[in-house]
Amino acid sequence: MGVGGEGLVFAPLGGVGEIGMNLAIYGLGDARRRQWIAVDLGVAFGGDDLPGIDLILPDIQFLVQERRNLLGLVLTHAHEDHFGAVLDLWPRLKVPVYATPFTAALLEAKRQGEPGAPEVPVTIVPLGGRFSLGPFDIELVSVAHSIPESNGLIIRTKLGTVLHTGDWKIDPTPVIGPPTDEAKLRSLGNEGCLALVGDSTNAVREGRSPSELDVAKTLAELIRTAPARVAVTTFASHVGRLRSVAEAAAACDRDVVLVGRAMERIAQVARETGYLDGIRDFRSADVFGYLPPERVVALCTGSQGEARAALSRIAEDDHPEVSFSPGDRVIFSSRAIPGNEKAVMRVINGLTSRGIEVITDRNHLVHVSGHPRRGELQDMIGWVRPRTLIPVHGEPLHMAERAALARRAGVGKVLVCRDGDLVQLAPGEPGIIDTLPAGRLYKDGSLLIGAQARTVADRRKLGFAGIVSVALTLSDKGALVSGPRVDMTGVPDADAGGTPFMQIAYEAAMEAFESMPRARRRDPDAVAEALRRAVRSALGTAWRKKPICHVHVLTI
Ligand SMILES: [Zn+2]
Ligand SMILES: [Zn+2]
Repeated sequence: MGVGGEGLVFAPLGGVGEIGMNLAIYGLGDARRRQWIAVDLGVAFGGDDLPGIDLILPDIQFLVQERRNLLGLVLTHAHEDHFGAVLDLWPRLKVPVYATPFTAALLEAKRQGEPGAPEVPVTIVPLGGRFSLGPFDIELVSVAHSIPESNGLIIRTKLGTVLHTGDWKIDPTPVIGPPTDEAKLRSLGNEGCLALVGDSTNAVREGRSPSELDVAKTLAELIRTAPARVAVTTFASHVGRLRSVAEAAAACDRDVVLVGRAMERIAQVARETGYLDGIRDFRSADVFGYLPPERVVALCTGSQGEARAALSRIAEDDHPEVSFSPGDRVIFSSRAIPGNEKAVMRVINGLTSRGIEVITDRNHLVHVSGHPRRGELQDMIGWVRPRTLIPVHGEPLHMAERAALARRAGVGKVLVCRDGDLVQLAPGEPGIIDTLPAGRLYKDGSLLIGAQARTVADRRKLGFAGIVSVALTLSDKGALVSGPRVDMTGVPDADAGGTPFMQIAYEAAMEAFESMPRARRRDPDAVAEALRRAVRSALGTAWRKKPICHVHVLTI
């Protein structure tokens, strides 16, 4: 083994086998005394299978244990899947955070929008900057993506150099920000790269992604030829796209109106950080109604069909300030994230049924992904020539495709791992040497709960068959003093023959009580259990579904 048993290790604690919730850690030292850095701390979004849960966060119990040895958290960029958990989880770590100016400004804007969110001290690193965290020498590499200031990290240690790509694509004309820094990546290849840990999102897509500039041209044409009002919806954080829309609007003398709080927040941050320099001021939604239809472009939140966002409300003609009419045009400069397709279709159908023209990326180049397709992945491997490649940021299929591509491109070692796997990168042959605690937390209202807690499973049951409550009072001799009283939520009124379920439940409870031997009736727990079984079974027979049933036995 290497220098005094020391090793360079990597572990994903989120973001592997799923898209979202990115958290990677790198460690250096011997197994008992490692120093760590963390890269990104993101969220994933809850779907229909998690009722009441909007956000999923990585379980950071391992980092909490190792807090004293954690030197810092480096954020690659300001997408929610990379920095969305910082405000919730930073108080458990209290480590220094490193980010570029736009990411830092967006984190601060987010903090101001969340009452009670902690003040997180952020050290601002310039684009392409280099800094040290203990034995880790970290250099940023600018990469093109779908938000300003996306960075790859070159992490140099005495045992070797790792490239953590972050989210990237190759785009020679990205509209804002520098293109992917090919020269720096090529020189890393010459210097020698031990391992590449990288984005697999689009590994199943052939070819190369079109440029942001091509999208800008299409948008300009569609805005120029629009007969009346135009709305464009996109991710608010896609400042390059916002800029393209603003330039297209200016070219045909239309004003840009921002609709939706997220749009306003990002526009503010983008102004402060210089990404909207030279762009005419945006107007706020309250002036929309006063502008002539052919003089306005609305930039709206809601590209994912979010029910409370601007575009959903416009589609239902329920927005207080902005309304669209037949003949107006709405452009989806976005693509539905898997899981959001139905919600997006609902909005598209709402608009279409009101005579509004809807344009999507199915028939026009109004959107490109910010992630590399296969051709770009091959270029990156050619530039950096890593000895080992570890796919991350993908579902199992994406990672498998990325792995196969890397093998075919001649990468000597390809390691597909799971959240929690501890990978030794050096010295010696890279491989998985251990498993660290990893998992998920749910943000439930203002609380963080463990994913294994019963809460959400109970909610699913409630959603499936509702709940029945039965209450009764017994004397200390076990005689029925009052009740049983039945209440139901989420249960139909009556069975197929018309008998009310209230009556079925009441009779089942009475019958169960009366069939109990007198001595047993003095035991409230036994009574509760007998009635619960009887009520569930009676409803099960009549309905073929069994609701949750609670029986409350009071004794006097
Ligand atoms: Zn991402
Ligand atoms: Zn991203």
